[in-house]
Amino acid sequence: HQKIQYESYRKNFYVEVPELARMTPEEVNEYRLELEGITVKGKGCPKPIKTWVQCGTSMKVLNALKKHNYEKPTPIQSQAIPAIMSGRDLIGIAKTGSGKTIAFLLPMFRHILDQRPLEEGEGPIAVIMTPTRELALQITKECKKFSKPLGLRVVCVYGGTGISEQNVFLTLCLCFVLGCLGRVTNLRRVTYVVVDEADRMFDMGFEPQVMRIMDNVRPDRQTVMFSATFPRAMEALARRILNKPVEVQVGGRSVVCSDVEQHVIVIEEDKKFLKLLEILGHYQEKGSVIIFVDKQEHADGLLKDLMKASYPCMSLHGGIDQYDRDSIINDFKNGACRLMVATSVAARGLDVKQLILVVNYNCPNHYEDYVHRAGRTGRAGNKGFAYTFITDEQARYAGDIIKALELSGSAVPSELEQLWATFKEQQKAEGKIIKSSSGFSGKGFKFDETEHALAN
Ligand code: ADP
Ligand code: MG
Repeated sequence: HQKIQYESYRKNFYVEVPELARMTPEEVNEYRLELEGITVKGKGCPKPIKTWVQCGTSMKVLNALKKHNYEKPTPIQSQAIPAIMSGRDLIGIAKTGSGKTIAFLLPMFRHILDQRPLEEGEGPIAVIMTPTRELALQITKECKKFSKPLGLRVVCVYGGTGISEQNVFLTLCLCFVLGCLGRVTNLRRVTYVVVDEADRMFDMGFEPQVMRIMDNVRPDRQTVMFSATFPRAMEALARRILNKPVEVQVGGRSVVCSDVEQHVIVIEEDKKFLKLLEILGHYQEKGSVIIFVDKQEHADGLLKDLMKASYPCMSLHGGIDQYDRDSIINDFKNGACRLMVATSVAARGLDVKQLILVVNYNCPNHYEDYVHRAGRTGRAGNKGFAYTFITDEQARYAGDIIKALELSGSAVPSELEQLWATFKEQQKAEGKIIKSSSGFSGKGFKFDETEHALAN
């Protein structure tokens, strides 16, 4: 980098409006509490905004927000947007479905539009790193709602699509899946970097790829990182790639949104299928449904059984090739098929508006996975339902599910409490110490290491 003469660029665009300037520190604290309990770490973070106009974005963006019924900023958007607009590096933690994408997109457009146009062979100015193809496509779609009216060129890069390097040049914003960016991509003009779903990147072992790209981008870039959770292992990476970041966290830790009605059913393995049909009978007419299983072969097995029972459905897991995965996700999003059997990782970050029901056919084996799965529904203020099957053999997972229910203010069924109590007694009798997998300390992003092991 020392050999390269980088042009100077501007990253502070934020002007606080008088209405916000007048707010006292007490009022700001109170407002942050109202916004689902925003906590901010790091000096000099701007106050949270209340309306879109206050973030100082263009008329075209405001119109696009209106057109897509984004009435006002969500809590993470209220706080992260002014912070990023003022040029700060940022770590944003908020549960799935809370609108993190727009929180990094709006400042990105302002940033890009301030710079001189790209010349032949130059570009991109902003890059967005994502762990999966589905997420990359989703972000690109959200991005196009604004980039089209703004006349900006956005390109999504993922493996096996035949995107040529030529296409990547002259692109202002590049959204890509880690590992899929060509070596020759010119990163010299990059001044804005987004690392999205950082916790997933860890689960998937992408840390070295993140570092490799960061090493190739000018050190005085602006970097923002978003995640649903902040596992301890992420702190080291955050420290390496961010410069005096502001940390914005919404809610104490990721919890299932209160719009999701959660049910947990203690059940024997061989009774699950009938119970599933009963539940589907209730909800299928009302919207789309995802059924989570823990393994690929279980997904295919359940798919067959459902087909036999005259439920048209699809399955989504890591064993399905990319082309088919795209079309499956498309069919599911546009409602052509409304029932899907999936593994957790395959469905990570999937945002389907009309999703009414999530069924955990196999019990999730740790807290975060439960929250992520249940978080597929109840998005953007819609009501959703989550059913979880747990067998006696899975009693060791009951503790995390109880915690998830409690933290989101849901009632804990007595059978589940019983299951957990019995399990604890047994373990005690055998002289084992029980450690819940989630060591939430209550005041920071301190999680237990065991959470990072993500099954399938
Ligand atoms: P996250 O990345 O936090 O999981 P997303 O950015 O995918 O969440 O947003 C979830 C859903 O909420 C998307 O369908 C998005 O279009 C919608 N959304 C985002 N911001 C707003 C807003 N301010 N008002 C209403 N809906 C919004
Ligand atoms: Mg997201």
